[in-house]
Amino acid sequence: MAVAEAIGRDDLGRRSPTKGMRSCAGCGARVPLGRARRELVRLVVPLAVPGRGGDVPPVLVDLAGRAVGRGVWVHAAAACVDAAAVKGIARSLHAPVRMAPAELRAAFGAAAGRRVAALLGAAARSGQLAVGATASLKACSRGHARLLIAAHDAAAAVQAAEVRAAAERGLVVRWACKGELGAAVRGAGAQVGLVAVLSVPLAEALRAAIALFETFARAGGAAPGPPAVCTAITHGEGRPGR
Ligand SMILES: [Zn+2]
Repeated sequence: MAVAEAIGRDDLGRRSPTKGMRSCAGCGARVPLGRARRELVRLVVPLAVPGRGGDVPPVLVDLAGRAVGRGVWVHAAAACVDAAAVKGIARSLHAPVRMAPAELRAAFGAAAGRRVAALLGAAARSGQLAVGATASLKACSRGHARLLIAAHDAAAAVQAAEVRAAAERGLVVRWACKGELGAAVRGAGAQVGLVAVLSVPLAEALRAAIALFETFARAGGAAPGPPAVCTAITHGEGRPGR
């Protein structure tokens, strides 16, 4: 029934006249559901919210879209994230959920780093990734590379003619260092300077996650460009010394 569907219900089961739309908890802009997955990031407040006497419930940055809890949406832009941290999440959820903007930005950066590593790991396991310079260049020359990801410290690999040609077409992004890239695709201790992503959906997901990482992981005003120290961080399981 079209009218009932149009009214629908929101995440809390309330009747909502805005089903089919998501609002950014930062700037308040409404985004049609079909575009929300691409344009907005879901933040989740776990269901057991203490919400008492200054307790600050943790807010999860749910890039994989699977976390359970009360969700709000926000543009992946610093101004929207800051506004959401200060009052947008609290206003959207009618709950005393507040974070320091720097804290929420850092959570975005960490979540983006984990997401990149998880996507790379999944791509490697499912055969949708060419790993290493030789395999990546072969994928390039066969026209199979949808995206090249080069470690920031992979100086030689990015000089290859195939990589330079791909860069001119906007198909090369830099992420992490060889140790981090290697850990994501081959396991701890591996060094990998270059990978080629062979599927379009994975390439798009990785490009988005890396852009998010670049936006937020160096929050605090670091200049864009390669990190001084490799800190791409964060592969779910804690590692010694991290
Ligand atoms: Zn916004």
